[in-house]
Amino acid sequence: MPNLKLGQTLDHHIAGRPHPPASGEYLEDLAPATGQLAGRIARGNAADVEAAVSAAQEALAGPWGRTTVNERADLLDAVAASIESRLDEFAALESADTGKPVSLARTIDIPRVISNFRFFAGAIRHSRSDMFPMAGALNYTLRKPVGTVGLITPWNLPLYLLSWKTAPALAMGNAIVAKPSEITPLSASALAEVLTEVGLPAGAFNLVHGLGPEVGAPLVGHPKVRGISFTGGTATGARVAATAAPLFKKLSLELGGKNPSVVFADADLEAALEGVTRAGFANQGQICLCGSRILVEAPIYEEFLAGLCERVAALRIGDPSDPETQVGSLVAPSHREKVESYLALAREEGGTVHCGGERPGGDLAAGAFLTPAVISGLGQECRTVQEEIFGPVVTVQPFQDEAEALALANGVRYGLAASVWTRDLARAHRFSANLDVGMVWVNTWLLRDLRVPFGGVKESGVGREGGQHSLEFFSESKNVCIKL
Ligand code: NAD
Repeated sequence: MPNLKLGQTLDHHIAGRPHPPASGEYLEDLAPATGQLAGRIARGNAADVEAAVSAAQEALAGPWGRTTVNERADLLDAVAASIESRLDEFAALESADTGKPVSLARTIDIPRVISNFRFFAGAIRHSRSDMFPMAGALNYTLRKPVGTVGLITPWNLPLYLLSWKTAPALAMGNAIVAKPSEITPLSASALAEVLTEVGLPAGAFNLVHGLGPEVGAPLVGHPKVRGISFTGGTATGARVAATAAPLFKKLSLELGGKNPSVVFADADLEAALEGVTRAGFANQGQICLCGSRILVEAPIYEEFLAGLCERVAALRIGDPSDPETQVGSLVAPSHREKVESYLALAREEGGTVHCGGERPGGDLAAGAFLTPAVISGLGQECRTVQEEIFGPVVTVQPFQDEAEALALANGVRYGLAASVWTRDLARAHRFSANLDVGMVWVNTWLLRDLRVPFGGVKESGVGREGGQHSLEFFSESKNVCIKL
């Protein structure tokens, strides 16, 4: 059973075993809500990446490379069952490492980890391949694993996102070298232990801890790693792409966002206020899909802004381990400083901060807490409106008509997601079709079906995850043509 207690020293996980770092060094991982030590992780380097890639290559040449679809599906189901049996402990670990409310980890993060494994187990059990008969010949398509793949993940939804890549990669028979965020590494080690425990052959899943330039970069640049699935910031994604492109690797990039929540005057106001508040501040605003730019049609602008501020001010900020807490700590003090710098910038740019943006005192003073903030009065060109802040901060802008709403919604370099709030069905279809984003929610936010395409356009990324998209990314199609 994985040890889910805080304060451990965690090595890499290579060839099914703990693997001390070649450097002999460890990095400290702090719990952001308390500032106390959450754990120590191996400080990886290129030698550790090399060891992990070798283990992965051996796994592909050994028993793992010979597993059947049903065997792999059974393994994924066993992982889901194991995590489910300890859901509360996984949730507590994830909450302590990230600062997110334990209620969120218990109802969103960890349940999603479980469904990710179950979903891809089901998906491969029911998978089919193409057959193209032609005059005098028959074509059929085989799906082969890509080989050794690198999975690089961020800190905001640590196990949720790692499992979203691990499950389809294993389902298709790849061997993995995973590199979780150094800021929230604990649950990745717990996953590695679960995978070993359920009988995954050694080397099929390897984990190398450490810093991006020291572990992520050599992983992306390793010639034997044939695919990279990266989720993180746009600037890092550009570096990953520049390294991977000349090596002709398969590449999936899920990057940043600056997503609009567009509220038309005919919307159900209560539902919109509830949904837009959740979209803005879930996980302290640290979800790539968060609606951080709220666009409101002029006739209801003042009323909506007042209602929003009232709701936001009422959000319960507190100890993440308290089940009643709605807003926890930001992921790190340095990240809080970055978010605070945007609040200062917003004021310089002429914005009004209606509520929030303060460090709470008392019991919360030692953590990286920041009260949720609502800003208005900023033009579209302002950096506060244009740049991803990735914290509990939203901007609110009025619009006069649908054309202006569309221009504002599309007027940023990102294009990940949007939510649209209206009772006009024709407008919902029309507006959704015209938004430059990969995902639109109408009268809801973050309602997820794991079969649908997930990903962004413009600087929010390249490629799609989800259902068949993930299975296709983690496999190579091979056509066989037989002359009859
Ligand atoms: P980040 O880009 O700083 O780090 C992401 C991962 O990349 C980490 O594991 C990091 O160690 C690693 N890394 C850093 N430098 C690297 C390099 N040179 N080569 C290879 N790997 C390297 O992002 P973050 O701060 O951890 O996460 C926040 C960002 O992630 C936000 O921009 C957010 O929008 C984005 N995000 C996107 C999605 C999505 O699905 N589109 C989901 C979650 C988060």
